[in-house]
Amino acid sequence: MRYLSLLFFVIIIISCTKTPVPELENIEFLESSISPHQIGKDEDSSIFINYNNIILEHKKNRNALFSYDKYEEFLITLNKSDRFIFVPLNEFDQTYSSDKIVIGMRHDVDYDIASAMRMARREYRNGVRATYYFLNTAEYYSDNKISTEIRKPYVLDYMNKLQNEYKHEIGWHNDLVTLQIVYNVDVEKYLTKELAYLRNNGIRVEGSAYHGSEFCYIYHYLNFYIWKPASNHIETGPSWGLFQNFDSVGINGVYKKIKKFDFSDFGFKYEADLLKKNYFFADVFYFNNKRWNMTMFDWNSLKPGDRVIVLTHPALWD
Ligand SMILES: [Zn+2]
Repeated sequence: MRYLSLLFFVIIIISCTKTPVPELENIEFLESSISPHQIGKDEDSSIFINYNNIILEHKKNRNALFSYDKYEEFLITLNKSDRFIFVPLNEFDQTYSSDKIVIGMRHDVDYDIASAMRMARREYRNGVRATYYFLNTAEYYSDNKISTEIRKPYVLDYMNKLQNEYKHEIGWHNDLVTLQIVYNVDVEKYLTKELAYLRNNGIRVEGSAYHGSEFCYIYHYLNFYIWKPASNHIETGPSWGLFQNFDSVGINGVYKKIKKFDFSDFGFKYEADLLKKNYFFADVFYFNNKRWNMTMFDWNSLKPGDRVIVLTHPALWD
């Protein structure tokens, strides 16, 4: 969603000797807070991506309701009741149960990969699988300049860890209209190339979810408008007017037409916002001036057969 204030990263990259993989005693610790026992293993305070990259604790000290501990408590409580099945969104459509409640766990990584890794780890140790949508215009993914996109190769390290170690799904957090309109990137070529790169490297990208870029509010479009099926979902209601540029977007008096595609053009099996559910919660919704969180809903009120999608933005959690 709208994260002008979140355009900074909380990831700390520790530079060590790159190759060969160093022996523990040869690693020069740039942060005195790191101890050798953190190398190669994850803890609440640090996540080991590889020898060049360890995510260290970074307390944002905000609302205690939005802490990883609170989030984990929620997972433990629901797991204990044995009434819920957690699935990543690529399994959501196919998962029906007459005696359980199906919960699709969606996480928009946005600009903060470190927080996503922390949340992912809490889920993993509770046997919960979820989907993490990587943002193609975020700094951990690429450098964006007019007509060019330069991918950061280490994005694969995060994806591999999430998918292969933590057993989560990797999705595409679509900022494609932004790439087209703001950066003049040929998105068809770009997306084809990126997905081939990810898939050839073993990352199974099956779905996308659109990102609410800050540019959407400036130039009045939604990234969803890149898809032909979006024609049935033009924004109406209170948001109408904010995102009315469905076909073309004007920047400094120059109008650019939005190129449109089918999901299948890129081998996507689903778009997260179009999955059928009877409850949808998001940590960016507000009720009575309070941001929605898991404690605001009586989870016992759900009935077997209910289908729920919970969207969180790890960047908003501590
Ligand atoms: Zn987003």
